[in-house]
Order: sequence, then structure tokens, then C-alpha cells
Amino acid sequence: MKCNICGVEINEKNYNFNEAAFNNKNSINNIIYCPFCGVSERYLGEDDEIIAVESNLLSENALKILDHAVKLELFNGDFYNMATKMAKSQEVKKTFEALAKIEIFHSKIHQRLGGFTKTPNLNKVNYDKYDNDNALLELAKQKEEHAVSFYEKYKNEVDDANLFKIFEALADVEKEHIILVEK
Ligand SMILES: [Zn+2]
Repeated sequence: MKCNICGVEINEKNYNFNEAAFNNKNSINNIIYCPFCGVSERYLGEDDEIIAVESNLLSENALKILDHAVKLELFNGDFYNMATKMAKSQEVKKTFEALAKIEIFHSKIHQRLGGFTKTPNLNKVNYDKYDNDNALLELAKQKEEHAVSFYEKYKNEVDDANLFKIFEALADVEKEHIILVEK
């Protein structure tokens, strides 16, 4: 089975990766999410083609939006990596750790879509004041809400039908994350 958004082949070895980032769980006989980018089964198929984008045909505006998307996902991934270290509860730690992997994976998807070769070097943010799990979860929720509104706003501005579909799929992933961090 293949993910049409990120292109990864899902198999018996990897179907349960990043399990803590999902509200429901994949089983080998019922794969309902891509374990890597998190999109729902609607985007998974036997030999379906990956939803491709021709970077060189994208408008300057679309490339600018993708550059923002790379950075947004990297910032969120950095946050989750930091939050993994800061969280007290083992369960919350596991959730943050899996979310970090998924958000960083999203930033790689955007890098590929935009044809960007360099990973940007972002400023490190200090999260020290979020010194308990509830504060971290609340900030996580805000970051996910921001990501959803980013994708929903800019899917209409990228001027590319496939990029629209990808943004739509990723907005749904971030919506799932909101539910997850609200628990
Ligand atoms: Zn995927």
C-alpha cells in the first residue's frame, strides 16, 4: 500500500510507526493512516500514483507559500522535540515525540514540492515558561490551529490543483492533532 501524498510504501514493518500521534490505531489488516505523514486512508492505495507537483511550473507566490510551509512545520517539529524533553507524563512525551516526527516529515514534503535543496536554519525558540504538561498541550493546540488555518487559507492561493489537494490532506492531519492534544 502506498501513500499518495508522501509516496511512502506502507508495509507490515512500518504500519505502526508514530502510533502515539493518532486518535485511532492502524492494524496490519486495517491501515487507516499513513504512519509517516499522517493522512487518512482516502489517500492510501495499492498502486495509485503519488499526487505530484511540478516545482518548476509553480508560481512565485506558490513557492513563497511552500517556503513558509517548510518553516511552519519545522518550527512545530522543533517545538515538539523540545516539548518531548520537557513533558513530565510518559504518555504526553510519547505523543509529542511522534508529532515531532510527523511535522518534520511534513516540512520535508514541502521542501520536495518546492524543489528546495536546503533545509532552513531556524532560530531556536525558548519554551521555558511552558513548564508543565498542560501549558505545553495548550501551546501545541495553538500551533496545530495555526497550521490548520495556514493550509486552509493558502490552499486557495497556490494556484495548483495537486498542491491544493495536498494542503487539504495536511489540514486534516493537523485537525486530528488538535483532537489529540486536547485529550
Ligand atoms: Zn504519507
